Amino acid sequence: MSLISIVVPVFNEEGLIEWSHDRLKETMDKTGEDYELIFVNDGSRDNSPELLRGICARDPRSKLISFSRNFGHQCAISAGMAESRGDAVVVIDADLQDPPEVIPVMIEKWREGYDVVYGKRGKRKGETAFKLLTAKVFYRVLDSLTTVDIPVDTGDFRLLSRQVCDVMNSLPEHNRYIRGLVSWVGFRQAAVEYVREERTVGETKYTLKKMLRLAGDGIASFSYKPLAFATGLGIFTLFMSCVYLLVTLMLHLTGVWTAVNALYYIGGFVLAALGLVMLMLGIIGQYLSRVLDEARGRPYYIVAERVGFDD
Ligand code: UDP
Ligand code: MG
Repeated sequence: MSLISIVVPVFNEEGLIEWSHDRLKETMDKTGEDYELIFVNDGSRDNSPELLRGICARDPRSKLISFSRNFGHQCAISAGMAESRGDAVVVIDADLQDPPEVIPVMIEKWREGYDVVYGKRGKRKGETAFKLLTAKVFYRVLDSLTTVDIPVDTGDFRLLSRQVCDVMNSLPEHNRYIRGLVSWVGFRQAAVEYVREERTVGETKYTLKKMLRLAGDGIASFSYKPLAFATGLGIFTLFMSCVYLLVTLMLHLTGVWTAVNALYYIGGFVLAALGLVMLMLGIIGQYLSRVLDEARGRPYYIVAERVGFDD
């Protein structure tokens, strides 16, 4: 019998956390494996921490890590992985949009010798058209930008062997894009396809801002192409400006345009070029801010409370 760690990030999930615990417990009891449920409270401002403490008091297999504030989903997963002791570690969202019934299938694959078994979303039920479209486009854009083969349409629902989990824990990155890092570390990986369910209680905790941040981390962590794009755009703009100047000059010399006309159009061109320069500065800023995070070396989460751990 092996020990399986289940890591569950929680942010303001008071409406579903009890149900979520019951369902995870039921599924894991059925497998006959030894297991631990590690709930990571990512600075919830609702009643989730109290409910989780109650769960830990009732169920000796449940453990709780509470952050001092909201650090984000990826940090919560990282903390759970760092505290896990299992021979295999499964990460699953608290809202159970990823059905826990898939976990036994993942364990089976792991027993066959795979180090990473990731859930691949077939259908996604109950998501807004906006989320479906942006997710679809983002995964494909990221895929075209990176040399690392990050499987499209996978979230963070996956099983990691102890060895892979240890490697992940040793990575010092601050702005973590976990699904990318897991692909990057390599090892034997397999997919399990599943239908992503609708969220039954509450609403998504991934605001547009958090989603954009995650997308930025994904791109900045695994691709330098946006930076190379700046060089290409620079050359292109330089070329276009030469053509533009020549054409304007000719139109002016042949008397088609007056001097005022010419200035007018050159002005427009300068404004457009300025916009492009600003855009490129913004892109460089995105990379630079992440370099600063690494240089400062602040911890990427702070634990305020631990419940149910032996030490
Ligand atoms: N979550 C978190 N910190 C955050 C945002 C979300 O720990 O800042 C948790 C949340 O409680 C849930 C999981 O991460 O267990 C995924 O969030 P959600 O279901 O809202 O995202 P979606 O499924 O809509 O992408
Ligand atoms: Mg969800």
